[in-house]
Amino acid sequence: MIRPTELSDSYGRSMRDLRVSLTDRCNFRCLYCLPETEEAANFYRGKFDALRNPAPAKLRPPEWKPRSEILSFEEIERFVRLAAALGIQKIRLTGGEPLLRQGIEILVAKLAKIEGIADLALTTNGFLFAKKAEALRAAGLHRISFSLDSLDRDNFKKMTGRDGLKEVLAGIALAQELGLNPVKVNAVVIRGINDHEIERLAELARDRNLSFRFIEFMPLDSGRAWLKELVVPGKEILARLQAEFALQPALPSNPAETARRWSFADGRGEIGIIAPVTEPFCGHCNRIRLTADGKIRTCLFSLHEHDMKGLMRAGVSDAELTEQLRAIVWQKEDRHHIGEPEFVQPERTMSCIGG
Ligand code: SAM
Ligand code: SF4
Repeated sequence: MIRPTELSDSYGRSMRDLRVSLTDRCNFRCLYCLPETEEAANFYRGKFDALRNPAPAKLRPPEWKPRSEILSFEEIERFVRLAAALGIQKIRLTGGEPLLRQGIEILVAKLAKIEGIADLALTTNGFLFAKKAEALRAAGLHRISFSLDSLDRDNFKKMTGRDGLKEVLAGIALAQELGLNPVKVNAVVIRGINDHEIERLAELARDRNLSFRFIEFMPLDSGRAWLKELVVPGKEILARLQAEFALQPALPSNPAETARRWSFADGRGEIGIIAPVTEPFCGHCNRIRLTADGKIRTCLFSLHEHDMKGLMRAGVSDAELTEQLRAIVWQKEDRHHIGEPEFVQPERTMSCIGG
């Protein structure tokens, strides 16, 4: 079969979206991502134990990659430039916590200048946003997504391992003041933990004119404690919201959109539901990921990674890197297998892959 010239896979999907992880480190310990706190351990040990076979991995402190293994800004810039020449239009900087990467605004300024990059976004837990906000905007950041799973101070702390609700809410307000609109906010919904807050979080979206996304819990946690019983299906989230609010479906802004979106009939803001577990959207996935240590992942649930850092550091030419990237993307998996007997949770977790 002849390969098209841009970044396409063998299932006819063309890649437009590259997620770049800037670090595997994080200042939070979210229980669906890096559960390390005693509270996280208690929750997982608690009421779902009877359902679990085998037992979840013991929660232990994360081991960060040494700095020498993390891509430099020059390496990231080079890779993004080559990817943009192949049709990547959207870059999302993520992590770990990307705001822990020193001088992030310098990288943003470099990436904002690359021809073909129409959308440059950042996903953050928001705790350090106030310190960097002005510099990021000045550097050319287009958009920002915050993670916010709870509006209750104690529950927020239980979920993230950090007493940071005030800082995150202030960060969201600041991003809006600075015009990084529409400001997106993501909540991972976990049964028995924050599902009682769904309506309250939607109310925040309406009050503050936010694009709020409810995300199903995926098996990418370092504690390997994910269970399907902990997933609140997107349909259930929607039914709960429809019972409380008058919602109008919003038209998809692009065919690869992962969220089903709804606006409030009587107000501002919108909500979206991202249901990768119960309603997979693999058929129109146009994403690839570059991990902080320079590996390409063609799916969140890939069991194989492709080493770009090694090639770059071995001195390969732009033409060779481009050819490698094309060949890798051509082999992108058709879909994930969550919920199927043969499903294997990837070794690396969301914080390492770059969500
Ligand atoms: N630290 C930043 C943050 O939390 O926004 C960026 C990295 S984080 C890995 C990116 C996104 O992945 C966050 O919105 C987070 O809620 C989501 N995430 C992490 N683990 C997840 C899981 N097991 N299932 C679903 N979403 C997850
Ligand atoms: Fe850190 Fe983000 Fe993972 Fe939470 S979701 S532990 S903030 S990387």
